[in-house]
Amino acid sequence: MLVTDGLIVEIGKKVRIPNDSQVIDGRGKYLIPGLVDMHVHLLSDGDEYPDTIAEDELKVMVANGVTTIRFMIGTPEQLVLRERSGKAHIVAPVIYAASPHLTGKEQGNDFVVTTAEEAREAVRISKTLGFDFIKITTFIDAQVYEAAIDEAAKQNIPVVGHADSRFVGVERALMAKQQIEHLDGYLEMLLSDDAPMKGSISDLYVYNPENWKSLDYIDESKIPELARKTVAANPFVDPTQHFMKNTFALPRSEASIRNQPDFKFYPKAVQDFYIGYLKKTKINDVPLSQRKKWLDIRNKLIKAIYDAGGKIMSGSDTPEFLWLYGYSLHRELKALSDAGLSNYAVLEAATKIPLFFSALLIRWEPSKRANKRIWFY
Ligand SMILES: [Zn+2]
Repeated sequence: MLVTDGLIVEIGKKVRIPNDSQVIDGRGKYLIPGLVDMHVHLLSDGDEYPDTIAEDELKVMVANGVTTIRFMIGTPEQLVLRERSGKAHIVAPVIYAASPHLTGKEQGNDFVVTTAEEAREAVRISKTLGFDFIKITTFIDAQVYEAAIDEAAKQNIPVVGHADSRFVGVERALMAKQQIEHLDGYLEMLLSDDAPMKGSISDLYVYNPENWKSLDYIDESKIPELARKTVAANPFVDPTQHFMKNTFALPRSEASIRNQPDFKFYPKAVQDFYIGYLKKTKINDVPLSQRKKWLDIRNKLIKAIYDAGGKIMSGSDTPEFLWLYGYSLHRELKALSDAGLSNYAVLEAATKIPLFFSALLIRWEPSKRANKRIWFY
């Protein structure tokens, strides 16, 4: 395969290799396209770790084949990284950055919005600063949310993120044509009409074992209609399924965590924090059979949305819960495959679909990136 100026120009056995090519021996290995991770954070986003480690964090992604990312809670530093990556000043993926998240309660790196005007102002500031998307998370009143959506339409900036079932809800988020992360709020939409309780098993509500009892009242016959509604509103769905599966559905012992190939890259304080947290989280009180059922329904939702014409996108929510950059995107490919997507559909979810979704924003100019030929064989 011959690559010139960052683009594949020829594939085959009879390609004439120009003399000045850099030659890469790929015998015994696999070559796949650069992967996209649509849900990424950095350890350096927080106050505990210095911004100076960010460039190394990005290199771990590239080393794992992740060549495009979307930051999902914006910081000013990410905009600098985006620019430096765009100019090829650093070894990093192509970067998109969502805004600091709009939330009803203070949670860090946020805009706390409790009135319509605060929401509009947060959207305008985000647009002015140059963020690519508006990120919505939790605890936002419906009218405040509507104001953010209206202002984002005026400012011509897409809205992405959570659909908090206690406040906004999936119906409203779909009406707004928001791109929804994590399948937030979807299980609640499947509760039977006469369900005696309406517990949410998504977003921050997942941590309350009581809510998991609502699984007994799920009516799976509602899945195809919900999938159709989703595709009609906004077909781009980023379920972050590996994250949900491996963090909340499958059991995770301390030994299994320490055996993960990516564990050793975390600072000790982060390792200790999550190991301690995972030992005492109340999710451990939820029976494994319930957690498995939750995973099965999420899998069915993903497959149904795909079958209805949905555009599934891969996102890992790295580096939360000791799931590191790149390693976790590979886990996401496996999770989407386990949900019933074909290998081709999985590769699309990690390449052309998220790139298409971001197409209007692309600032990558191949001719400025590289000026050489590479021959892979
Ligand atoms: Zn996230």
